Amino acid sequence: MWVEDWTPRAACKAAQPDQLFVRGAEQNKAKQLCAGCPVRTECLAEALDNQIEWGVWGGMTERERRALLRRRPNASWRTVLETAREQSAPAPAARTTV
Ligand code: SF4
Repeated sequence: MWVEDWTPRAACKAAQPDQLFVRGAEQNKAKQLCAGCPVRTECLAEALDNQIEWGVWGGMTERERRALLRRRPNASWRTVLETAREQSAPAPAARTTV
């Protein structure tokens, strides 16, 4: 399920803001913070749909996000990511009839 109000659940909520706006190898550390974030997908969609140019968002650097935006410049990334997540969710367990 998509989390509309995702920022209160952000894993980086208590981090220093500068921690996600770093360059070079430091970006890998920032991405590690995102790896366990429960709202990573929502965060990434926000950054892509708003073409946020700086910082690590949703586990992706600005360069990685630019590459995605070039591939699908008119996409609604929320729709793309929400659909992908729904399709990758495990099917509900089959019911057994007695
Ligand atoms: S994915 Fe990363 S930048 Fe986005 S809310 Fe989570 S920890 Fe913060």
